[in-house]
Amino acid sequence: MAEQLRRAALLLALWPAMALAQPNPQPNPLPGVRVLATGGTIAGAGRADSVGYRAGQVSAADLIAAVPGVERIASISSEQIANIGSADMDEAIWRTLHARILAAAADPALAGVVITHGTDTMEETAFFLSLLAPVAKPVVLVGSMRPSTAVSADGPHNLMDAIRVAAAPAAAGRGVMLVMNDQIFDPRFVTKLDMRQLNAFGAPATGPIGHVQQLQPQFFAAASAGPAPFSLGPAPLPRVVIAYAHAGMTGDDLDRIAAGARGVVIAGPGAGSMPSSVRRAARALAAAGVAVVRTARQGSGDIWRSDSAAGDASDDANGTIAGRMLTPAKARILLMLALQQPRSPAALQALFDRLGTPGG
Ligand code: ASP
Repeated sequence: MAEQLRRAALLLALWPAMALAQPNPQPNPLPGVRVLATGGTIAGAGRADSVGYRAGQVSAADLIAAVPGVERIASISSEQIANIGSADMDEAIWRTLHARILAAAADPALAGVVITHGTDTMEETAFFLSLLAPVAKPVVLVGSMRPSTAVSADGPHNLMDAIRVAAAPAAAGRGVMLVMNDQIFDPRFVTKLDMRQLNAFGAPATGPIGHVQQLQPQFFAAASAGPAPFSLGPAPLPRVVIAYAHAGMTGDDLDRIAAGARGVVIAGPGAGSMPSSVRRAARALAAAGVAVVRTARQGSGDIWRSDSAAGDASDDANGTIAGRMLTPAKARILLMLALQQPRSPAALQALFDRLGTPGG
């Protein structure tokens, strides 16, 4: 009996320590967000006046550490994928980002992904990933216009916004988005409109899809992203080039640019027009099996298929494809992914009609 009492007393004395030693039964209440850093001005360093700096100098960990209170928004992990100026963004890094997004989609600890990126090609990476990523978890691309060393650097604020969006329940089901300067954009329609200002990004045709001005992001419409239209095969993507059409351009110019390409995107003046000699060269390329897409230099507007009413400029007559609302750079990305398998001009047109307009 005395022994039993002694054991009970011992248990009681040890109880607080035993309770402390138990693993915490409460799961971490914060959503998990994975930050994939690729460089850009947001990771840039140089002069405080922003006039001179180098992109891609600051690590992912330091970018996150520059956001006060970020540990109260999400449970953050990070990976340095690259540290480059985004003019050097390439297919190899896109493939790595794509693989990380697929891994994040399968990781129950993660609510979303943030990709820090240079602003110069951020809309291209966003559009590329939007055509491949599952939509259930948000993937938010973010950059800054001023380097990290600038007076009033915008990077920490933009990164905080992006993490808020990636962690937000309201962002689930929206797939890839781009966040800059308090606004949330659809990768299809967003473009960099100014090379210096803080409000450099806009979506001229549609406007933003939401904003981040309160603790939770506000979206202007219900999520509508469908399943990813493409998957990424192991072979290098087919070569697709962009030809910038202008007064005085010739068909020979187009042929030189298009040499060896499976697809050509023509950035034409107006609604994708081109000089007659370029049009004849485009028609010959299309007849030879090269996919030729007409887009606009202006960066905003809808190029739909022109029929026989357009005479010599008719897409039907020339075998060309109307690029709809996509900028030349985004039309190139759609065409590269589409040409991973043989597709007729009609099938390609159907893809541009669906993925190059707000409808699809
Ligand atoms: N000027 C660029 C930026 O805003 C540099 C880059 O795209 O990496 O991030």
